Amino acid sequence: MYNRRKFIQTTALSAAVVTLNKACITKNAITNKPIVISTWDFGVAANAEAWKILSTKGKALDAVENGVKVAEADVNNQSVGYGGLPDRDGIVTLDASIMDHLGNCGAVLALEQIKHPISVARLVMEKTPHIMLAGDGALQFAIEQGFKTENILTENSKKEWEKWLKTAKYEPVSNIENKLYDKAAPEKLPGNQYNHDTIGMLALDSQGNLAGACTTSGMAYKLHGRIGDSPIIGAGLYVDSEVGGATATGVGEEVVRNVGSFLVVELMRQGYSPEEACKEAIKRIVKKKMSSTKDLQVGFLALNKNGEYGAYAIQQGFTFAVCDSRKQDLIVKGKSHY
Ligand code: ASP
Repeated sequence: MYNRRKFIQTTALSAAVVTLNKACITKNAITNKPIVISTWDFGVAANAEAWKILSTKGKALDAVENGVKVAEADVNNQSVGYGGLPDRDGIVTLDASIMDHLGNCGAVLALEQIKHPISVARLVMEKTPHIMLAGDGALQFAIEQGFKTENILTENSKKEWEKWLKTAKYEPVSNIENKLYDKAAPEKLPGNQYNHDTIGMLALDSQGNLAGACTTSGMAYKLHGRIGDSPIIGAGLYVDSEVGGATATGVGEEVVRNVGSFLVVELMRQGYSPEEACKEAIKRIVKKKMSSTKDLQVGFLALNKNGEYGAYAIQQGFTFAVCDSRKQDLIVKGKSHY
């Protein structure tokens, strides 16, 4: 029989632990701001742009938008924005989301023909009563807001898609990035490009405000209309100014199933460090999937209110870039489950 006394004791104890953990988060004065972190090696160039804003006392929200735009505009980056690999029908569809320290957020899903989906997501946040716009509606909104439509499928990405078509089954390969990634010799692939997709960025500005942005062309050769985790608030991105922010990369379906970024932030609220929180979230994904995680990649990146950061991934090879007053081009190898 359930013992009421025990319940009260347990509850009191949990409350004490939570209070203690909250104290851990708030006790330390903010020590490391401004700071910006982002996923993968291509985060270095994106952080540099964000740093121009942060280092001159600019806002975290402006920093993350302008930062990830560097990756979106990079023609050699085949997993974000312009030049991204298309879906199985040869159409590039982009997902992006943005969130500020007040909990405001905006997202676009499966947006076509627009080079900078993150800026459209920001306007969804600022100019509409909604959070998400998808497909044709998102495109219509972007055009109304003055965005120029253009062909965002580059010759290079088109050629790769045509090559893929020759052997492809009429279904997406859900972990294409790991399949294409030559683990034995990652340097053979320019910039390890196939192993990574989304750019997720988190920034803490000199006022102590947090913001995050996340943008991707999603899984290469996905079914037309497939949406990943990146534009789903709580999955690919989450920011809570009381605690910190988190973002995700890798197979979006697994991130959505576990509401990954929200989970990481909630774990930090309970007192986990950013790295511990990412590790625990990865552990839950691995536990649910059991042995089928061998070829699955998911990585989380987190930044807390004190400017402390951490990351964790299922597979080796996940990197992230850090930029603060001490170091502007740091690339950190994320720890991993395998
Ligand atoms: N999370 C992205 C998606 O599922 C892709 C990635 O980051 O690898 O669309």
